[in-house]
Amino acid sequence: MTERLAPATITVSAGRPPRDPDAPLNPPVTLASVFVAGGEREYGRYANPTWEAFETVLGELEGGRALAYASGMAAVSTLVDLVAPGGVVVAPQHAYLGTLHLLGSKERRGEVEVRKVDLTDTAATIAACDDAALVWLESPTNPMLEVADLPAIIEGAHAAGARVVVDNTFATPILQRPLDQGADAVVHSATKLLSGHADVLLGAIVTRDPEIHRAVDEQRRMRGAIAGPMEAWLAARGMRTLHLRVDAAQRNARQLAERLGKHAEISRLHDPGWGTMLGIEMTGGVAAAEQLVSSTSLWINATSLGGVESTFERRRRWGSEQATVPEDFIRLSVGVEDADDLWHDLERALDGLPD
Ligand code: PLP
Repeated sequence: MTERLAPATITVSAGRPPRDPDAPLNPPVTLASVFVAGGEREYGRYANPTWEAFETVLGELEGGRALAYASGMAAVSTLVDLVAPGGVVVAPQHAYLGTLHLLGSKERRGEVEVRKVDLTDTAATIAACDDAALVWLESPTNPMLEVADLPAIIEGAHAAGARVVVDNTFATPILQRPLDQGADAVVHSATKLLSGHADVLLGAIVTRDPEIHRAVDEQRRMRGAIAGPMEAWLAARGMRTLHLRVDAAQRNARQLAERLGKHAEISRLHDPGWGTMLGIEMTGGVAAAEQLVSSTSLWINATSLGGVESTFERRRRWGSEQATVPEDFIRLSVGVEDADDLWHDLERALDGLPD
């Protein structure tokens, strides 16, 4: 078959074992540190058939070649470390904290120079790409949910000679395919929506560029930040329903955004208009935010995101969060429960806040 399959078909059909009589329909968990000599795999730090199943599904969804890593941060740091000493990295002012901390610590050691940008300002972001080695993009951003004009920024960054990486964790390839928009590589925390059940830590890099693929594969072999076979299997299993989960959570997020935006206890709604994440600021400030996250019965006060269950947290409870994130900002990860039940749970808690 040569035509490109739809995402719903890829999630269900890709990465299955060959159809030999009595073969399992699903890839088994291969617990093996060593493979018989003479093949491609040889050793468990170089390859594993269960990783390959996960990589096949994700690679086909993003339209590139995927490699699995021990966590999202293992994948992020592998790409950041490809920047030659002294190189300039352009990064969003708001992005996943771990990524910003990694860049900050590399900058303090004199290894890179970091230029922070507001990704919603396309012209300023492109202007900052001058002489940059790497432009790091997230859209929507974590946690402020700003949306970047990816094609324009990627084109501008390339014109300036920079490599572009997009962290596609929040959008997933169901909603956004950065490689089609010109990005050189995509990175994922597969811990989130890809796995989808809050039971796995896993990361991935996807690229069409053979040079980047070779370099990050070499880093994975040398550093050993490899996926566990069980984690890769759980993620591959979770991805079979990725399109359904993203679709359901996105529909819930639309309905909740509509209702949250009208509630008097909410002073500002952060809504990219698509995707499964929302943000709110509270009329009653930090105290109201703290009370809200501890007085619901369905919504769980927890960090991370992208599971089937709805979770939320006040981001500034983390002392390390960016000071530009408002103190009372709550990030909501919308799950796949019934939208009315999710709303009534929130509404009860909001209505219970002191006047
Ligand atoms: N990128 C984004 C956008 C994230 O939200 C996270 C984790 O929250 C990461 C990367 C890091 O992933 P992991 O926690 O799997 O290492």
